[in-house]
Amino acid sequence: MRVLRSAVVALSVGALLFPVAGGWSAAGAAGTKPGRGSAHAGSGFLRFRSPNMTYHGGNVMTTANIKAIFWGTSWTTASAVGDKVSGIDTFYNGFSGSNYAKTSDEYTDGRGHQVGPATSYQNHVIDTSAASGGSSTSVILNEVVKEITSPDPTGNGYYPVYTDVPRGNANYCAWHSTGTDRGVTVQFAFFFRLDGDPGCDPQDTTTTHSQGLAALANVSAHELSEARSDPNLNAWYDSQGQENGDKCAWTFNVPSVAFSDGTPWKLQGEWSNQAYNTGTGYPNASGQRGCLNGH
Ligand SMILES: [Zn+2]
Repeated sequence: MRVLRSAVVALSVGALLFPVAGGWSAAGAAGTKPGRGSAHAGSGFLRFRSPNMTYHGGNVMTTANIKAIFWGTSWTTASAVGDKVSGIDTFYNGFSGSNYAKTSDEYTDGRGHQVGPATSYQNHVIDTSAASGGSSTSVILNEVVKEITSPDPTGNGYYPVYTDVPRGNANYCAWHSTGTDRGVTVQFAFFFRLDGDPGCDPQDTTTTHSQGLAALANVSAHELSEARSDPNLNAWYDSQGQENGDKCAWTFNVPSVAFSDGTPWKLQGEWSNQAYNTGTGYPNASGQRGCLNGH
């Protein structure tokens, strides 16, 4: 979902939100499903608008150089570190080169760059100061600037910020955005603590991950895929402003997918224009067969 300045969630700059399950309508006018037919006045025929995403001129990330930031006072406990911190480390290490990562590889920019399957994970940092919620992108960018002292000069830096703040009444689970750190374009994302949160729970029953880790992994796959195909919120999205993660949110197809290192994760799919055009995807919540999860 494309959220503009002064939208309901009062984000200070543009960001793209991952809604809670079944929650598109909670964020305002974009509750309509993309791609249903619309009548073309005067033609006498119904013309069906393609649900595919189109290119809007901006960059894609050819790779993503990822460093996770865990922010909040509770990230000192051994259980939190042993479960989610090490679990998220495993997630990003296994993501690179996976069939799941390849679901975003068809997207290119206008200068011949293409999303590539390889990403690089540069471990995490932990900031045990009190974390903020996700209502301000500038607060999260400031945290990135504080913790990432030398942002990736190639512009492919991606910094997911995992807070220990519960979602409360927010109508999103996570979001991604972009900004500038010491003159370098950076991509970053925000995550609530999702333990025991039914609105952001993929209901993973087959891997051995804790519920909170499984929930973070699913939204992490969504945000990273969107950041790769639409890093600066001006590349690939559909006529409703939905990016590749949004279009397949909360549809899973299989109980888990295996990453390149064999680790299993329950992850939503990502929209593929190619899969939709060739009828090779599985259906999203609107029944459009453009979702892939690389299994
Ligand atoms: Zn999204």
